Amino acid sequence: MKVVVIGGGAIGVSAASWLLRDGHEVTILDPDPIAEGASFGNAGCLNPSSVVPMSMPGNLPKIPGWLLDPLGPLSIRWRYLPQITPWLIRFLQAGTPARVRDQSAALRGLLHDSVELTMELARNAGAQDLIRRQGHLVVYRSQQAFDGDAMGWQLRRDAGIAFTVLHQEELRQLEPSLSRDYRIGVFFPDNGHTTNPNRLINAMAEAFQRDGGTILRAKATGFAFDGETFCGVQSSHGVIGAEAAVVAAGAYSKALASQLGDTLPLDTERGYHVVIQAPEATPRLPIMDAEGKFVATPMEAGLRLAGTVEFAGLTANPDWRRADKLLTLGGRLFPALSPQYGDQRLTRWMGRRPSMPDSLPVIGLSDRSNRIAYAFGHGHIGLAASARTGLLVSELLGGRTPSVPITAFSPRRFRHGDR
Ligand SMILES: Cc1cc2nc3c(=O)[nH]c(=O)nc-3n(C[C@H](O)[C@H](O)[C@H](O)COP(=O)(O)OP(=O)(O)OC[C@H]3O[C@@H](n4cnc5c(N)ncnc54)[C@H](O)[C@@H]3O)c2cc1C
Repeated sequence: MKVVVIGGGAIGVSAASWLLRDGHEVTILDPDPIAEGASFGNAGCLNPSSVVPMSMPGNLPKIPGWLLDPLGPLSIRWRYLPQITPWLIRFLQAGTPARVRDQSAALRGLLHDSVELTMELARNAGAQDLIRRQGHLVVYRSQQAFDGDAMGWQLRRDAGIAFTVLHQEELRQLEPSLSRDYRIGVFFPDNGHTTNPNRLINAMAEAFQRDGGTILRAKATGFAFDGETFCGVQSSHGVIGAEAAVVAAGAYSKALASQLGDTLPLDTERGYHVVIQAPEATPRLPIMDAEGKFVATPMEAGLRLAGTVEFAGLTANPDWRRADKLLTLGGRLFPALSPQYGDQRLTRWMGRRPSMPDSLPVIGLSDRSNRIAYAFGHGHIGLAASARTGLLVSELLGGRTPSVPITAFSPRRFRHGDR
């Protein structure tokens, strides 16, 4: 079958790779180079432990403090507030204990073998050296902050995630560069990371082409139907004939889905990174500052500090002060880092996470045609979930039973007005 995959990020490249393995004739469409979207600059974490949704019970009272703190993890461009308000209401509604438990179970299915499955695609691309399994550390400055996340720790226990709680001296032994201000931490031995997400996805895309796939620099603009039968993707290069399609355009997928009759509350949580070349301190493994809500990952290019959430929509210019705040927070985590770096040693980046208010991606078939699959909305976990999502897409379009439960990811879950 001829399949067009719209979007050449982590999700699109993975879907295209699995579809090609199934023997389909596959083309990836993207107006930009491969993995130049959100997939370019993420924190690189492949964490099966990411089973805690973003909206948790008790979040609401914390939000004003996050917004007012100059180093806080959340910001809203006030001009964007009217557009984002319905999404934020759904986000808060998603944070009930019962819904959070369901979301967590669904995420567990999607992420449980993230490292192994990503490694399988990486091996096929000869890029296995870009994946490490050195674990992941989450650190807190106070017992009180740690206790505040109790429900998250319980969700992980329920999901059977292995972790060890470490106290000040044990933390220092595991990671000597860490500031003494961090008193408690949690080590996840089974988590992995990539040292270069962009290079990893590009290696997969090269393997896809080597194995017979096609990549076309074109923008998808719509879908072509012959009567009720899907027959191609409209694009900046004209109609590209196909028997099936995958919408994997990340944060830009909403308009494409709405053309097919699916109105989905997709928005973007913009995030930032800074990379310090030749840093004075480099951790051995990715470390998440649980209160600052950012991750410090050792990468090929240096130390990457990535995170924060900014609601400002798809088109607003980056606010580079958000990236510079990550540098300040990085200094709090690793006191050996310099408070300032010249432009030769520092790169800044902003990316648009494709985010659903219930922290779950959309993976399923479109309303209009069972030959068009959706695979977008992965928010904070799109790299870790990419290999499994791509496999699920190939199973859906191949008419096979999905390898993990996908009801929770249905595009139809927002129909009843209670989501
Ligand atoms: C700061 C930050 C840190 C993060 N850290 C992690 C992490 O550690 N681990 C993790 O798992 N996730 C992380 N994420 C999230 C992860 O990066 C995203 O969920 C993931 O990259 C989404 O992949 P995607 O392929 O859906 O989207 P993208 O990578 O954005 O790809 C979408 C592609 O679609 C293309 N496109 C758009 N419109 C069209 C069109 N009309 N036609 C054709 N192509 C189109 C775009 O050009 C783009 O290439 C992080 C994100 C950020 C911002």
